[in-house]
Amino acid sequence: NKQVILKRYAVEAPKETDMEIKIGKVKLKAPKGSGAFLVKNLYLSCDPYMRGRMRDFHGSYISPFVPGQPIQGFGVAKVVDSDNPDFKPGDMVAGITGWEEYSLIDKTLQLRKIQPDSDIPLSYHVGLLGMPGFTAYAGFYEVCSPKKGEHVFVSAASGAVGQLVGQLAKLHGCYVVGSAGSSEKVDLLKNKLGFDEAFNYKEETDLDAALKRLNILDLILGVGLYMKFSISSELWAQSTITKGVYFPEGIDIYFDNVGGPMLDAALLNMRVHGRIAVCGMVSQHGFYDPQGIHNLYFMIPKRVRMQAFLQTDYLHKYAEFLDHVIRNYKEGKIVYVEDMNEGLESAPAAFVGLFSGKNVGKQVVCVAQE
Ligand code: NDP
Repeated sequence: NKQVILKRYAVEAPKETDMEIKIGKVKLKAPKGSGAFLVKNLYLSCDPYMRGRMRDFHGSYISPFVPGQPIQGFGVAKVVDSDNPDFKPGDMVAGITGWEEYSLIDKTLQLRKIQPDSDIPLSYHVGLLGMPGFTAYAGFYEVCSPKKGEHVFVSAASGAVGQLVGQLAKLHGCYVVGSAGSSEKVDLLKNKLGFDEAFNYKEETDLDAALKRLNILDLILGVGLYMKFSISSELWAQSTITKGVYFPEGIDIYFDNVGGPMLDAALLNMRVHGRIAVCGMVSQHGFYDPQGIHNLYFMIPKRVRMQAFLQTDYLHKYAEFLDHVIRNYKEGKIVYVEDMNEGLESAPAAFVGLFSGKNVGKQVVCVAQE
């Protein structure tokens, strides 16, 4: 049974060398009377929150991994043997499993049965239909209190959570801008995921100015060119001059996946009664941000509501979420982009890649075909 083992706790950003591939033993039968069942793991999910479990820190909402033991995370698996009357061989399951070929699932791990649907890739149960998709849904509808026509900004916008937040906001009738860390991701946001605009934050020297974008000089230059060459309105709309009419009048909703300097810049650009959903702080490698946030004061004149959340607070909405997302996906109104790595051996690199932005879309590892 090939496994990805946590070798030692990570210091700051996790490294591939904090993990190792080992061959471990697994009983290929669920022991009689144990109530356990054995699964063959098919897809494993790489999620930023797992970084917190790779540290020797007990003050978080979830306990650290145990060095010498396989990493645990969300996955899709197939039951191959069972001593549990609720799960029988052949059942497909999704939930927390081990980073290994086979896992013996006892009461400490939570897996739920899923109904495979030939129209939906099985791996989506760790992405669009799994924890990240649900985070987007709960965060957007329950925390952001969106209204039609509002101006929404999403960071890490092409990732597992961000790509769905943007699409839900578009379906809700909002104007949506995303930030991401490469031109490939910006292209994806604008041309596949339906964002109104997107920008590469790594190319911006001033994030505050980037969010305000269209300055008066651009406008004068643009109108001048428009009058002089009387370019068509389509060309005008596509021209690089209009690129970046982001939030000259401010942001109503900021869905924050990154924290750090982007959050600081967004705080300067919120509209009166704006909302900030604090989903994650992936830009901050430690629990304490050495750069600090400077602009909290501006929440006061703008009466901004900033609310952190955990998707687990809203699990009672899961059925409603599945219904909404599956319907829109089948109607072609939602798409989902995955970054699929092949083989269990590739899992450490895939996971570490989340913290340098290597993943384009939801990072998944395919361990085995069904
Ligand atoms: P992604 O698929 O978005 O992957 C992580 C992305 O973060 C990278 O691709 C990269 O994108 C971006 N990133 C990495 N380092 C930095 C950095 N230093 N500065 C800015 N961006 C960076 O991850 P998820 O969609 O799964 O997660 C997004 C956020 O949501 C995370 O913060 C996560 O912890 C949080 N989360 C919160 C939950 C909750 O219940 N509150 C549940 C699930 C996730 P780019 O190339 O664009 O920089």
